[in-house]
Amino acid sequence: MEINPQIFRGYDIRGIAEKDMDADTMELIGRAHGTYLKSINVNKCVVGSDNRLTSEEYRKAVIDGLMKTGLDVVDLGLTLTSITYWAQYHFQAKGCVMVTASHNPAEYNGVKLGRNYSDTSTPISEIKRIVLQKNFAEGKGKLTKAPARYIQIYNQDLLKRIGKLKKFKIVIDASNGAAGKFMPEIFRQAGSEVIEQNCELDGNFPNGTPDPTENYVAKRLAERVIKEGADIGFSFDADGDRIGLVDEKGNIFWNDVLLAILADAVLTKKPGAKIVYNAYCSKVVDDVVRRGKGEPIMWLTGDVYIKEKARKEKAPFAGEFSGHFFFLDDFYGHDDGAFCGLKVLEYLTEKNQPLSKIIASYPKYVSSPEIKIGCPDEKKADVINRMVTILKKDFAGNWFNEADGIRVDFPDGMLMMRMSQNGPYLTPRFEAKTQKIYDERRKYMKDLLESFSELDWSKGSNLEEFE
Ligand SMILES: [Zn+2]
Repeated sequence: MEINPQIFRGYDIRGIAEKDMDADTMELIGRAHGTYLKSINVNKCVVGSDNRLTSEEYRKAVIDGLMKTGLDVVDLGLTLTSITYWAQYHFQAKGCVMVTASHNPAEYNGVKLGRNYSDTSTPISEIKRIVLQKNFAEGKGKLTKAPARYIQIYNQDLLKRIGKLKKFKIVIDASNGAAGKFMPEIFRQAGSEVIEQNCELDGNFPNGTPDPTENYVAKRLAERVIKEGADIGFSFDADGDRIGLVDEKGNIFWNDVLLAILADAVLTKKPGAKIVYNAYCSKVVDDVVRRGKGEPIMWLTGDVYIKEKARKEKAPFAGEFSGHFFFLDDFYGHDDGAFCGLKVLEYLTEKNQPLSKIIASYPKYVSSPEIKIGCPDEKKADVINRMVTILKKDFAGNWFNEADGIRVDFPDGMLMMRMSQNGPYLTPRFEAKTQKIYDERRKYMKDLLESFSELDWSKGSNLEEFE
């Protein structure tokens, strides 16, 4: 198969399975990653996969490729990205590969690559170069299969980092992704009653793309929480590193509110701490961090950038609107959906209040979800540049941040436009303190977007926000 060079992206490799990539491609990626790992003196690698239809076959191919370069491999089988990162420490392997397309639709697949434990910033351009030049290291690696009980050790490791918890009633929606196999168990071990929704594994994802940031995922989770009289609802993406939540009243919160909750939880224990978050977040993060006497640091979108900034600033916590959260003091510093959920439960236990009540004490904004609108990859940078000029003119006198697309901050909210690093989309967002101003900002954004003929309104997500 001809390899589509577009599959090599900023921080991972992703494309349409059996069209952009196949098992042979995966073997080449394994050989390239093995070659790269050997060049930085890493000789052992853990490999896991999610439950996509091609994942098992692709994982085996990656393992073959790695072993041909002389890398020793620990086969984790079906697992989660967060557990794969963790398994590097457990099996003392400084390399990792996770076969997954994370929260992408069912037809996608790909890999996340890691080196030196929690460092996921493997230079994909280097992997691409090695794949295309086919200049591979040679060797004969050993294969071990991870004993099934490693999951139990992982669960215990997380639980011992969390304080005593009240017994909660939790709904978990895994959108039929691999998280459905692992999440209910760990929350039960944490003493909670778990109600499973879409936790049966099915790589066809019959209930839609496993993406906690999608409205329909949040809505069906909220409905079930109300029906069951649960304390909280969690949704997870296919490989378990992203989490979404709803409160006991079925209120849906975007991940910036979750980020604010987790930041507040950290600040209760570490007043004055720095908190790093991406520019796509609501102003609620800034407000809650300041209220907790913390130091908010707004940064670039992309978990690699956010993690790097957090380490540099010695921030104990960092996060992104997309649902990636990093605890750097009491955890390994890579994202882990289960750990985030446990942290929320710990916070609720300490506050001894329902989640809706805690969130009611936070400043309120009417915020749009993450909207995606189609824009061809080769045109999106140019479109953004032209939009920046227009926005700077239309909102002159306000505070601008151009770290990532453009963000305009008002005293009562914000408005931003950036391009996705994960696909052919622009991702606008806006918010306000009142519905009236929100509606005005929404109309402004709709008019602006409609004035660009490059945009494709038939592609994207949450576009009903503009109807
Ligand atoms: Zn994911």
